[in-house]
Amino acid sequence: MGASETVPQQTRAGNCDRHGEYESKGMSLLGLRTIWTGCPACAQEQRVSDEEKRRADEESDRQRRMERRLSTSGIPLRFRDRTFENYVADTDGKRNALQVARDFAANFDNHSRDGTTVVFSGKPGTGKSHLAIAVAMIVMGSGTAMYLNALDLVRMVRDTWRRDSEMTESSVLHELSTVGLLVIDEIGVQYGTDGEQVILFDVLNRRYRDLMPTILLTNLGAKGMKEFLGERSFDRLREGGIWVAFDWDSYRGSKKDAA
Ligand SMILES: [Zn+2]
Repeated sequence: MGASETVPQQTRAGNCDRHGEYESKGMSLLGLRTIWTGCPACAQEQRVSDEEKRRADEESDRQRRMERRLSTSGIPLRFRDRTFENYVADTDGKRNALQVARDFAANFDNHSRDGTTVVFSGKPGTGKSHLAIAVAMIVMGSGTAMYLNALDLVRMVRDTWRRDSEMTESSVLHELSTVGLLVIDEIGVQYGTDGEQVILFDVLNRRYRDLMPTILLTNLGAKGMKEFLGERSFDRLREGGIWVAFDWDSYRGSKKDAA
């Protein structure tokens, strides 16, 4: 005699505050008490949200492992208070920049698939880092992100050339190429040697090739970026990229590190 014969399936109409009517199935426990199934739509939502949480946990583990390997934090502690909410958007230009950054963060899945490159171009102190870090903080909620000055990036790779380095050059390049979002600040400052510039282009090219989104912060204008990146990279950028000109003066009494 099977269990299905001793425990007859009962049904009754259930009603969910959010999803309306559904058919609830009842199972009698030893004839003492009947357990009724809840709303199937709610149960499905719960499964999806459990799965999202599991994935977010996995990504934050990945972020921690990456930071440990590179002996760096994805976003320096002193920058972690940068949000969209505390960005002061008191002109049309700033409101537009804020909107572009918000949209980019909200549609990050698409940008991640397309490998979008974003350029924030403007003088120091105009809020480029603030908005880029706000984006990165949101990305870190469900993925991995890192913020680096171009020179620090170059130094990180160059340090692996020392004989006592714990990491190899290829492993650092791998980390920089595979982090979900890479923000590189101070693009276009003077580099020591051509070799150092090659490192930066190596990272940029790998990310472009693998369709990994990157945000570049620079005080160069379009002409300067074209010279710096070269015509081909610049054209690529113009086709699929997002360019925001931060063409206002720096914040009065700005925080120095908010450049
Ligand atoms: Zn429901």
